Amino acid sequence: MSDKTNKKRGKAYLVGAGPGDPGLITVRGKEILEKAEVLIYDYLAGTKLLRHVPKDAELIYAGKKGGVKHTHTQEEINRMLVEKVKAGKRVVRLKGGDPFIFGRGGEELEELVAAGLSFEAVPGVTSASAAATFAGVPITHRKFTSSVAFITGHEDPNKKESNIAWDKISTGVGTLVFYMGIKNLESITANLIKHGRDPKTPVAVVRWASRPRQQSVVGTLDNIAKIVREKGIKPPALTIVGEVVSLRDTINWYEERPLFGKRVIITRTREQASELVALLDENGADTYEHATIAIQPPDSWEELDAALQDISRFQWILFTSINAISAFFDRLYSKGLDARALHACKIAAVGKVTADCLLEYGLKCDLLPEKYTGEGLAEALENVGVKGEKILLPRAKKAREVVPERLRQAGAEVVIAPVYQNVPTAENKEILKAQLLDKQVDLVTFTSSSTVTNFVHMLEVADKKELQELMEGVKIAAIGPITAKTVVANGLQVDIQPDTYTIPAMVDSIVSYYTSPKV
Ligand code: SAH
Repeated sequence: MSDKTNKKRGKAYLVGAGPGDPGLITVRGKEILEKAEVLIYDYLAGTKLLRHVPKDAELIYAGKKGGVKHTHTQEEINRMLVEKVKAGKRVVRLKGGDPFIFGRGGEELEELVAAGLSFEAVPGVTSASAAATFAGVPITHRKFTSSVAFITGHEDPNKKESNIAWDKISTGVGTLVFYMGIKNLESITANLIKHGRDPKTPVAVVRWASRPRQQSVVGTLDNIAKIVREKGIKPPALTIVGEVVSLRDTINWYEERPLFGKRVIITRTREQASELVALLDENGADTYEHATIAIQPPDSWEELDAALQDISRFQWILFTSINAISAFFDRLYSKGLDARALHACKIAAVGKVTADCLLEYGLKCDLLPEKYTGEGLAEALENVGVKGEKILLPRAKKAREVVPERLRQAGAEVVIAPVYQNVPTAENKEILKAQLLDKQVDLVTFTSSSTVTNFVHMLEVADKKELQELMEGVKIAAIGPITAKTVVANGLQVDIQPDTYTIPAMVDSIVSYYTSPKV
C-alpha cells in the first residue's frame, strides 16, 4: 500500500503494547519502537516502553483515561496520525493490550486507508489474557469451559436496547471477560443472574494486570460488586466470570512472589540499573529508577591520549568498571586504533562483569582477582609482582585511590587516565521526594557511596533529622561495607547488606529479608 503522492517513506505502525509489563510487548513491536520518529501513546500503554524509543523521537501522549477528561479526542488522534505520516515520518501508534480489542485500532487504520497512507499492524497481549495469567485463572480449562467471550462493560446500563445478547451469553458461554466494566459491575452481574447464570458462579476482578501494583479480588456473581466497592478497586480492571476462577486457589503464582507489591527505589546510573531492576522485577518488586549519577566524558583526554601514543610501554592495563571499558575503547577507536593496539599489554579486570565486558571487545583477562574489589585486584597484582612495571589505569576522574597507592608501594609506575566522570543528576527529584513524603516507598537500594551522597543531595533536606523523617519506615539495602558506611554517615541505618558485593547477592539478601519470618 504505497502513497503515490508522497515521495517520502512516511508510514504508520499500529502496535499493541501488551498489558503493562514492558516484557510483554512482541519482538516486532519492540523493533518498531526502536526506529520510531514519532510516538503517539495511550494511558494504558505503559511508560516503561518509552525507553525503547530513540531519544530524539517526538513523543505525543494521547491520554484516554476512562472517566477522566480525554487529553485528545479520537478525531484529534486520527488527524495527528495522518498528518505525521504525510510529513514523511515513521509514526508509531502504541496502544495498551491489543489494538483491535476494544482499542479503536480499526478506526485509526480506516483513517489511514482513507488517506492513502501505508501502515503495518502488530497485535499485542490483550489484558484479558494477562489478567487471567497473572491472577492464576486459566481462561479456558478442559474441565470447566470450552468457550470464552470478551465483552465491553462500558455500555450505558440505561440504554433501551443493549448490543449485548445477555440472554445468550449468560448461559451460552463458559468464561466471560468484561473490559471497562467496573463502573457498571452491579448491572452486569444483575443482568447475568437475571438471564440464568448461577449467582454462585465465581468471579475475579483484576486491576492493573501484569504490573507490580496488580490487585485482584474474588467473589461470586451475587457479591462481587459489593466486594469491589468495599475494597475500593478502581479502573483499569477486568472482570472474569466463570468456573475457571476457582483454579486461582491452586495456580495463583504472580502475587505470591517474594517481593510482590514492594516498592523499591533504585539509585544507580541510568546505564547500569538494568541488571538490578530485572532481578528485582522477577521477584515481583515494583521498581522505580531514579538515576542519581550520569556518566559523562572527562574534562580532558590528555592522559589517555598520551598513553595511547605508545601503549606498548605498559605491561598492564587495569579495568575496574564497565564504564571505563566502553569509554576507553570509544577513545581508542576514535584514534583509528583497535584491540590489536593492546597486543603487548597484559590485562586485568576487577570482577566477572568487567571480565565479561572485555570479552565483548575480544579480550581475555590475564588476571582476575578472587575478591571482586579494588583491594582484591591490588592484592592479586602484588602477588604476581609488579616491581618496575608500568601500569595504565583508565577509570573515573574521581575514584578511590587504594589500587594506585598499593601498586605504587609495590614498586610499580601507575598512570591514571580519567576516561569518564560521574556527575550528579537530579532528574525527577520532585517525584522522588513526593514518593517518600507520601510514604509510597518500602526500600531504597544503594550500589555505591556516590549513589548515597547524590540521593541525599537530591532530596535537598536541611539536616539529618529531616532526612531521617523522610526515610522513616523505608528500609535500606547497601551493596557493601563502603556504601553502608556512607549510609550511616548520613544518619541512616542499613537494614540489608549482602556478604558478596554483587548485584545478584544483594537481591538475594533483599529476598531473604522480606521472606524471613520476622517481616
Ligand atoms: N486494547 C486493550 C483494551 C482497552 S479498553 C486490551 O487489549 O487490553 C480498556 C480496558 O481494558 C480497561 O478499562 C480495563 O478493563 C482493561 N485493561 C487494560 N489494561 C489492563 C490491565 N493492565 N489490567 C486490567 N485491565 C486492563
